[in-house]
Amino acid sequence: MISVEEALANLFALVRPLDSERVPLVEAAGRVLAEDAVARRTQPPFAAAAMDGYAVHRDWLQLGASFDVIGEAAAGQAFNGPVSKGEAIRIFTGAPVPDGDFFVVIQEDIDRSGDRITIARDPGKGDNIRPAGGDFQTGDMLRAPRVISPADVALLASMNIPTVTVAKRPDVALISTGNELVMPGETPGPDQIIASNTFGLKALLDRHGALTKILPIARDDSDSLKTAFALAEGADLVVTIGGASVGDHDLVAPVSAELGMDRSFYKVKMRPGKPLMAGRLGDMMMVGLPGNPVSAMVCGEIFLQPLIRAMLGLPAEPRARKQAVLAEEIAANGPREHYMRARLDDGKLHVFDNQDSSILTVLSQANALLVRPVSDPPKQAGTLMKYIEV
Ligand code: AMP
Ligand code: MG
Repeated sequence: MISVEEALANLFALVRPLDSERVPLVEAAGRVLAEDAVARRTQPPFAAAAMDGYAVHRDWLQLGASFDVIGEAAAGQAFNGPVSKGEAIRIFTGAPVPDGDFFVVIQEDIDRSGDRITIARDPGKGDNIRPAGGDFQTGDMLRAPRVISPADVALLASMNIPTVTVAKRPDVALISTGNELVMPGETPGPDQIIASNTFGLKALLDRHGALTKILPIARDDSDSLKTAFALAEGADLVVTIGGASVGDHDLVAPVSAELGMDRSFYKVKMRPGKPLMAGRLGDMMMVGLPGNPVSAMVCGEIFLQPLIRAMLGLPAEPRARKQAVLAEEIAANGPREHYMRARLDDGKLHVFDNQDSSILTVLSQANALLVRPVSDPPKQAGTLMKYIEV
């Protein structure tokens, strides 16, 4: 059995870069920028007023100084023409400041009578002018790779970039396996349950940038599983759920081997989620997840989320660990890394008593996975512990 860290490294080694595509800016949020975006203009393109007020020559700036107002500059409407020393321009936020060494006195510091103004209050030090290029210059870049945020979209628009090159969303095919499973909304037989994992995992994968399709449930026989694998053809990643242990009905390992899966690893020293496998199956990556609902979702958080990010060209790295103190004491950990369902409330980690890997109600209340190293001794309340946000 390998460690979680080794398993992740092996998973990253299976990744092949995906193509990129161009999308309009309105569809860019949340996508991964695949090529540096280069500013096509300078912003602001001219020195601009940052406040409503009056532009006067800086060397005439003085409490009590008076000026004749000879014109107006508004956003989108510059004042064109000379402004001599004793003159001022009425100016509004976003308007070009006339050429020369000007200072914008905010209107609150001015007394006006007709077309005559006086600096009536201390105008302060700041000139209330945004310098040309103060935000960015032509040729400045938004570097790839990065997840495009709403602020990035605003910046790209401001750079006059109407389309961007982003990583293609990885196509993921999800296969649930098990004679006991039916789809949500169907009427299960007396010995059947509802397939939940595929739906939770699709939500998780798509949230992180995948395009996931849920394939028909494979029954616990080789032919049915082979049919499901055939339906997955063309995906970048096929994920099976369940049937991954070594019981008589656990067919994922033998069937994928028969189909030519080049297996990278099988079984990881972790709780929940031990019977995890991964490899390449032709052009597809394949990950076999354990069937227990919490195991499948925790493996999704620990392995599939970083894997999708790596497929998108983002840095291949494990989930970030944060730190918080324990609210109550916890017992020693066993021989496998344990991802304990916990709730972070008021800065303290409350670890759920029930850590059974089939209990979804607990997982749904959890917002943290407490990370327990192998053989971690008992911990007192107040101990600083590592956790992963979920
Ligand atoms: P398995 O690994 O196939 O032995 O499955 C372990 C447990 O997880 C069994 O109780 C299964 O019924 C359950 N299980 C497997 N796949 C799913 C699924 N897609 N949704 C919900 N439960 C599942
Ligand atoms: Mg099964």
